[in-house]
Amino acid sequence: MRTQMYIDGEWVDGIGKMPVYDPSDGSVIAEVALAGDKECEAALAAADKAAASWAKTAPRVRAEILRKAFEIMSAEADAIATIVSKENGKVLSDAKGEVLYAAEFFRWFSEEAVRVPGDFRKSPSGDKRILVTHQPIGVSLLITPWNFPAAMATRKIGPAIAAGCTMILKPASETPLTALAIVDIMERAGVPKGVINIILPEKVGASISKLLHDPRLRNLSFTGSTEVGRILLKDAADRVIRCSMELGGNAPFVVFDDADIPAAVQGLMLAKMRNGGAACTAANRVYVQRPVAEAFVAEFSKAMGALVMGKGTDSGVQLGASVSMKERNKIAELVSNAVKAGAKIITGGITPAGDGAFYPATVITCEKDNEILQHEVFGPVAPIVTFDTDEEAIALANDTDFGLISYVFSGDLARGIRAAEAIESGMVAINRGVISDPAAPFGGVKQSGLGREGGFDGIHEFLETKYIGVEI
Ligand code: ADP
Repeated sequence: MRTQMYIDGEWVDGIGKMPVYDPSDGSVIAEVALAGDKECEAALAAADKAAASWAKTAPRVRAEILRKAFEIMSAEADAIATIVSKENGKVLSDAKGEVLYAAEFFRWFSEEAVRVPGDFRKSPSGDKRILVTHQPIGVSLLITPWNFPAAMATRKIGPAIAAGCTMILKPASETPLTALAIVDIMERAGVPKGVINIILPEKVGASISKLLHDPRLRNLSFTGSTEVGRILLKDAADRVIRCSMELGGNAPFVVFDDADIPAAVQGLMLAKMRNGGAACTAANRVYVQRPVAEAFVAEFSKAMGALVMGKGTDSGVQLGASVSMKERNKIAELVSNAVKAGAKIITGGITPAGDGAFYPATVITCEKDNEILQHEVFGPVAPIVTFDTDEEAIALANDTDFGLISYVFSGDLARGIRAAEAIESGMVAINRGVISDPAAPFGGVKQSGLGREGGFDGIHEFLETKYIGVEI
């Protein structure tokens, strides 16, 4: 297990150590090196020094490095999944799923690296030729959250490498071990020194702000809360740094009366419970049409109530711990406030005693104006609201400042597509509980973010478009 930072091709210590905890029992798993000003500067200097030669490497060379990283990561998936599960708390099967998904970003971007299209055209007036090409933006800062410590890192490292950018990775302080393991893979895959650097600043806010104000830094790719995203956007504005932002969600899950109910229940189990609900894509508000509401609530609550909760690495466990006591307590508070405002607990809702950051799978029913529907729960809690008409469902789905993903279940595809077109979100799942795919553009509208990761768009978050006008 790597615990040092990686700067300019060397594993180094910093100004001190920070403990990483196992949230299922509060024990310390490892101590990782912390960066002070000197280490942050060294990482930026290394990325800057490597930028020009890295930008000139043949796309095929970069593609082969990513392909090798994909192969190593897939072969070592079990070991990395154990690290993910230990530091994040999620169950091992979720962790393994995440690692394989994370590796797929390396494969996808190894394929994308050699397929960046350009353009050569005659101008409409015929006076010149329009030549369009793409160039790496330059030194990129990648900031990742704790909920998908592997996939959020590879979703940024993959396109940055493919595009020819050098980078500094700043993982979440709760889950740095997975990111360090991934950087170790990149080193073994042959990434030249200086191209990827990883730091864990002791003073996150101040160090990141300083990096964003340095002229050597050109690009920021952030995944995390809207609150922190806003701070970073303001900082980035000073030097007009290019930003790609994957922020919070508040996903509606709409079940129409013609839906296949067992399939919708299964879909919601996936959309709600993958990662114990700690996903920006997690179904956060469930809207069910009145004629099927009773049957749906009964069947879904039965499935939720049957989940086995425990330490993520134990076999048979289906719901692990939250990442920290702080996060767990936030979930418990949201539920208790919802109940005070009139919500009814159908299953779960009782905070367990003990040192583990556990919260049970919980289903509540509530009115459409309950406060909980305006908060991203980030835990295993499903608030269910009944609706009458399609128009009402769309209005409720759009009653949020967020717009990352939405889920729609209907037996009529045309009705599903009409709803998908009317709902304000960057992604819509029709009759599916999970749609994330490295080959598809992931991202949100409204306050859920800017830009897209994955798909054909992902590499362009690390490329500048250059137009060259040629006299003919
Ligand atoms: P989450 O709610 O998922 O923890 P955060 O937005 O708090 O999301 O954290 C996402 C990432 O942003 C983490 O790597 C975290 O360390 C980092 N972060 C938190 N606060 C700041 C800040 N003021 N400046 C830069 N990065 C920050």
